[in-house]
Amino acid sequence: SSSGPKREVKTTCPYCGVGCGVIATVAATGAVTVRGDADHPANRGRLCSKGSALADTLVPDGRLLHPEIDGQRVSWDEALDAVARRFSDTIARHGPDSVAFYVSGQLLTEDYYVANKLMKGFIGSANIDTNSRLCMASSVVGHKRGLGADAVPGTYEDFECADLVVLVGSNLAWCHPVLNQRLLAARAERGTRIVVVDPRRTDCVDAADRHLALKAGTDALLFNGLLAYLDSNGHRDAGFVAAHAEGVDEALAAARADAPDIATVARRCGLDEAEVAAFYAEFAATDRVVTVYSQGVNQSSQGSDTVNAILNVHFLTGRIGHPGCGPFSVTGQPNAMGGREVGGLANQLAAHMGFTATEVDRVGRFWNAPRVAAKPGLKAVDLFRAIEAGTVKAVWIMATNPAVSMPDAGRVRRALERCETVVVSDCIRDTDTGRFAHIRLPARGWSEKDGTVTNSDRTISRQRAFKDGEGEARADWWIVTQVARRMGFADAFPYESAAELFREHAALSAFENGGTRAFDIGALGGLDDAGYDALAPFPWPWRADAKPQKRLFGDGRFFTDDGRALLLPVTAKPLPRSVPDGALLLNTGRLRDQWHTMTRTGLSARLSAHAPEPRLDIHPADAAARGLVDGGLARITTLAGEALARVRVTDAQGEGTVFLPMHWTERFTGACVIGRLVDDEAVDPLSGQPDLKRMPATVAPW
Ligand code: SF4
Repeated sequence: SSSGPKREVKTTCPYCGVGCGVIATVAATGAVTVRGDADHPANRGRLCSKGSALADTLVPDGRLLHPEIDGQRVSWDEALDAVARRFSDTIARHGPDSVAFYVSGQLLTEDYYVANKLMKGFIGSANIDTNSRLCMASSVVGHKRGLGADAVPGTYEDFECADLVVLVGSNLAWCHPVLNQRLLAARAERGTRIVVVDPRRTDCVDAADRHLALKAGTDALLFNGLLAYLDSNGHRDAGFVAAHAEGVDEALAAARADAPDIATVARRCGLDEAEVAAFYAEFAATDRVVTVYSQGVNQSSQGSDTVNAILNVHFLTGRIGHPGCGPFSVTGQPNAMGGREVGGLANQLAAHMGFTATEVDRVGRFWNAPRVAAKPGLKAVDLFRAIEAGTVKAVWIMATNPAVSMPDAGRVRRALERCETVVVSDCIRDTDTGRFAHIRLPARGWSEKDGTVTNSDRTISRQRAFKDGEGEARADWWIVTQVARRMGFADAFPYESAAELFREHAALSAFENGGTRAFDIGALGGLDDAGYDALAPFPWPWRADAKPQKRLFGDGRFFTDDGRALLLPVTAKPLPRSVPDGALLLNTGRLRDQWHTMTRTGLSARLSAHAPEPRLDIHPADAAARGLVDGGLARITTLAGEALARVRVTDAQGEGTVFLPMHWTERFTGACVIGRLVDDEAVDPLSGQPDLKRMPATVAPW
């Protein structure tokens, strides 16, 4: 009853990379309510529509309740033995690179850590990649090249003390709503100006001073033009550049060749000369500028270069390391960052280390591991191609739904169909991917599991359990630990709690670090269980000999070998796929009230009311030219596949482009699976991130 004892548990929202603190109140009846945590630095009490509806999603509907082999209920022992045996057999017959894990930004850092340790340290392959490949990989490359490490320089407070915020390929209003609320509150208080660079007129534009509705894929050119403009008009911070930056001449030469004047930029970006000139002048005249970028930049075949084109302008003008300044990547997923910290990407080893001989040796000694992978593994697109080709014969998919979300989902489905062993760990039984599983393992979900996540401004927060696992569901770290023991690695996998894993992860981050590597949370290597349980949100790095650091690079020292920021020469590239006559460019993305493939948000009637079905947004002129009417049905055809969706005619959609949300699956509607429409041919050569936003599509009445 309401007068009975209740418990309050502090945890973290499992949706987006803002990483809001949540207080869950559990009544004596077991009923749960949630509210924002006023003490959490990410949200200070705020929640968005998705976070507010979290309690609605804590229902048993659709859950995978017990392990299954070939659709039959089995015991945990039988299931774990089968996974270990099938992986061990495959490795014995075909070598370590014949197996793979495909994991998720929904996993907690401890889950990620142990999966990475098993694959890279003990199986001896680096074939573990994550759906963060579809989310952040281009920013990782851009950060490493420019800053010397995958480290977001600023903090959320910078949104509040900037005078100009430039949103590039980021629908912050829908995809990072609480951060957008913080920005709008600051704007109301101090008149922050906002510029939106996006082919669509998103909700962000309502509060913006300027909307540059550029042609899809021309953002690198816009920033090359800005770099050239700033230098030519006397806005170089000569002191900063001389002391702290490298590569300025090369970057400027490339920018000038690409974008010699504003007229050229305007023409190629499809913008008015006057609006480009006004944006450049405003950027030049404002000291405190934060440039925020997200999937519009990352999910591109030149995503890495675009990130560097953005970093370049901040380096040239010294707008980094100070309050209200800097480039700022906002991550899509709740723990895309935590996963990267422990080596969730196939091209990273652990604790932000790569595959140099020194790093392989260092990690091998720390883990006391027999066969640390010595080279990067397969990135997501290549991984599923290798499964299709039969070179990878066993895959374990954790907490993600690649049969929907990967480009060329048809290929992913063919690959899983022919794969000898498909293991799927998930909370939900009937996902599009789960249908291909030989072995299903029930995982605990949000509210049932313990661990940590890292948000977009490097803040590490606890997710805490406040409910029992549904059915026989177990934590992902526990499942991986049990399989590792059964594969013969019991000594190296003694874990009985998430806290033990966190301590080991923290210790590895500081092992032979000497202050030379960016990621270091060595101060927490000795945390006891009670300390882990009580851990308050903190930003990394947090070295044993220093305080945690909120804003990086204030001293002008970067993580590159010579300590200097590196400007990269960038040349804007044309669209990666040829566009047939009459085709439109299909852009894909999120809606405000849904999350990923709707396995959780789809359970909330309140959330589903915002958009009951997928709609194809199309400009009135494009609709009229094709005989499409608002509310009618359209057939969307690409080289990869076909879909059906209801049409919404809106001039918010740029001419020549259409937009479809990414969330719907065959589980919810058989007719609109986004991954079936986008091919996997256009991929950033450096980051391996697929281009999910510019697929040529023919649209016609159904
Ligand atoms: Fe959750 Fe993101 Fe909303 Fe915060 S902004 S409540 S992290 S979905």
